[in-house]
Amino acid sequence: MHRCLGSAGEKRHIALNYLIELSCNLDAALLLSPANMLSSAPLERLAREVRQSYAARYGTDPTWVVAAPGRVNIIGEHTDYNDGFVMPMAIERYVVVAAGPAKSTGNSLEVFSSATEGDCTIPVGEQLSDNLPQWGIYVGGVLQEMLAAGYPCGPLQAAIHSNVPLGAGLSSSAALEVATATMVEAALGESMDEPEKAKLCQRAENVHVGMPCGIMDQFSSAACQADRLMQLDCRSLDTKQVPFTNPDVTVLIVNSNVKRELASSAYPIRRGQCEVAAKQLGVPALRDADMAALNKMADQLEKVVYRRARHVITENARVQDMAVALESNNWALAGELMYGSHDSLRDDYEVSCDELNLLVDTAHQIGSGGGVIGSRLTGAGFGGCTVTLVETDAVEDVAQRITQTYKTTVGIEPTAFTTRPAEGAHIVES
Ligand code: ADP
Ligand code: MG
Repeated sequence: MHRCLGSAGEKRHIALNYLIELSCNLDAALLLSPANMLSSAPLERLAREVRQSYAARYGTDPTWVVAAPGRVNIIGEHTDYNDGFVMPMAIERYVVVAAGPAKSTGNSLEVFSSATEGDCTIPVGEQLSDNLPQWGIYVGGVLQEMLAAGYPCGPLQAAIHSNVPLGAGLSSSAALEVATATMVEAALGESMDEPEKAKLCQRAENVHVGMPCGIMDQFSSAACQADRLMQLDCRSLDTKQVPFTNPDVTVLIVNSNVKRELASSAYPIRRGQCEVAAKQLGVPALRDADMAALNKMADQLEKVVYRRARHVITENARVQDMAVALESNNWALAGELMYGSHDSLRDDYEVSCDELNLLVDTAHQIGSGGGVIGSRLTGAGFGGCTVTLVETDAVEDVAQRITQTYKTTVGIEPTAFTTRPAEGAHIVES
């Protein structure tokens, strides 16, 4: 690891973030000068933009602006719904909402989103209307659950803006849900307990959207802290904030820009297989099993069920080991754990795909000699993103090599950006 960069390192990180994204997406001629690259923090820019779109639409300034981040999971994949352990961090990508009181009466929200270029009015009451667009169900589901929990939104109008990519495994859905809940908190001048808020948003996605997701995404968006990875026990909801402040290590996210339909259909199937395994092992959840118990039962379990359980059991152990690795600055071990997680997701849990394997394999080939610490798929799989820990000095070169190889081999332009662990949902302006 190289010298400590301090605040200069921070600035360099922001500059790199822009550079990498721009160079992967835009013509080089559009690159900004270094001064411009450092002048506008992404959240400030987003907040300014959402304020402007609110004013353009409603003819008045918003009363509140709130933000909720997406998240990247460093390790602990498909463990949350097994009551296990995860280690995500919030990313510097946000859903922002500008809101103000509306003239109507009762509990309702008039809202539009720049990400989906659509608008809708959501009457909050007995049941959500069938006429809502899909994205409106995420918002309406939260409003409905908030009403049931004693937080009526009142008549509100809002504008939504976001730079969390949709459907890329960086939890734009949870960011949208948690931003909606934070908007209601701001409007009511009340603050919910973070676990309560996360569970409420998870319930909205489970019940109203019909996605049986675990608690990790909503909890991350609600409760992550800047400069920290969050080790979360998904059963007790106890958290341990693991410092991630070494400026010489950077988190690089590469979006494969592929998404398979299989992602949503395979998810409940994997969940079901885990439940079968837990039942046959005689434990409440796979979190309570270990490899010795699993191996004892190996003959009686269907082979595929055995492999699913082996992933969950070994992945839970990897999360615990990662906390130790980070606390002791053992980056070699951290890298091994990330590659181990990817192999297990590819072979035992079978949620990877050729594109994600290529991204991880390319990072692995660059290896520690080229500044790569470790890499793995992140999110539910079947497309979406990889997360790679890279020595900061090498990140530009590593991003370039990974994206170039991917583009040449797959023929799709990937998107890469770096991020530090960001602050969870908060009110930006009230
Ligand atoms: P992920 O959470 O990994 O991004 P999901 O499939 O769980 O992927 O959620 C993506 C969906 O969330 C989108 O299709 C859309 O319905 C909704 N969504 C997320 N962010 C926004 C946004 N800013 N505006 C409108 N809808 C959004
Ligand atoms: Mg989601």
